[in-house]
Amino acid sequence: MSNEVHSALYLSVPFCKSKCSFCNFASGVFSRQLFDRYVAHLEQAIASSPQVAEECGTAFDPILDSVYLGGGTPSVLAPDQLRRVMQAIRATFTLAAGVEFTVEIAPGTLSEEILAVLVEASVNRVSLGVQSFVDQETRAVGRLHNRETTLADVERLRAAGIAEISIDLIAGLPYQTEESWRRSLDDLIALRPPHASVYMLEVDDDSRLGRELIAGGERYHAHHVPDEALTVALYEQAADSLNAAGIAQYEISNFAHAGHESRHNLRYWQRQPYFGFGVEASAMLPAPLPGEPHRALRISQVDSLDALLGGAKPERTVVGEQQAIEETYFLGLRQTKGVELVAIKQEFGIDAVDRYREVIAAQVERGLLEIEDGWLRLTRRGRLLSNDVFAEFLTE
Ligand code: SF4
Repeated sequence: MSNEVHSALYLSVPFCKSKCSFCNFASGVFSRQLFDRYVAHLEQAIASSPQVAEECGTAFDPILDSVYLGGGTPSVLAPDQLRRVMQAIRATFTLAAGVEFTVEIAPGTLSEEILAVLVEASVNRVSLGVQSFVDQETRAVGRLHNRETTLADVERLRAAGIAEISIDLIAGLPYQTEESWRRSLDDLIALRPPHASVYMLEVDDDSRLGRELIAGGERYHAHHVPDEALTVALYEQAADSLNAAGIAQYEISNFAHAGHESRHNLRYWQRQPYFGFGVEASAMLPAPLPGEPHRALRISQVDSLDALLGGAKPERTVVGEQQAIEETYFLGLRQTKGVELVAIKQEFGIDAVDRYREVIAAQVERGLLEIEDGWLRLTRRGRLLSNDVFAEFLTE
């Protein structure tokens, strides 16, 4: 982890206006009263950041380079609740001059009041969970917005001065075809967002759609989910189209115009420290000990809202040197540029590269990894089989 960066903060808000059929994240539709209790929890948690750092044995840096409110859908909070979260951040931290401050928004949940809170809090980046510009597809998975709402929200964000907009799409939604996906990609490109994310649909077995895929049924349109081959083809179609439009792929699921990559997400892939609070959030902070300069702690919050509000403590896991090396490979390889082998040697010693020579050679042989100018990276095919490649770097 580099010492030249300041702090980063992730907050999860596990509330949504409706539950997407494929999602089994601990998010859902809850009462406003519960929102209040949750906001109070976040206020306390954010204020505990200096103490969390101290418990890790690391100095607390109050300057934030990046803030990310995700979820769930933070924009379903009432304006005064969202304002309280923003104030809590400012009470403990200071925003760096060039801070990247992102909030995830579901199209159709951006009221004028919420927009005003975002502007007042210096939010300068919004990630819009569009998923598709084809109304039949968003409707099929339980999203409440349509194409018109999305286009209007982008316009309103820009008019309010929030120009850093990221648009999320999902390849593999029910009813999706190459032709309908083409329309979504064309709409996205026409909007000229600085950033886009494209995910292949992952249906959790415990989600409503997942259960229907296993047991059969009609309600969640399981029969209309594209097969794996089509989903992969849609993903590749997206990568080609976005690259051609200058929204270049810089990570397995992420694309950006040069200079507009998500700084917050880059921190995860480059193993830089971050605080994280709220349901299912995690933090990683340096926790060096004499003789163990790379030691860090991962602090994982519980995934149940009830347990969290009931006072459940997060789980702390030590990230030792071996794990730090493994993470450097498999997180770094998510980036299109890959990892620089000389940098790994410098950080961890020559053995951190030597002991993987066989693994690397085997994956190069399979056509999943390539080495160029000292950088090790996934090939195009390797990006589709990335989990198989990453597993090779794990000792357990
Ligand atoms: S996919 Fe996102 S918006 Fe949909 S239910 Fe899950 S967390 Fe909420």
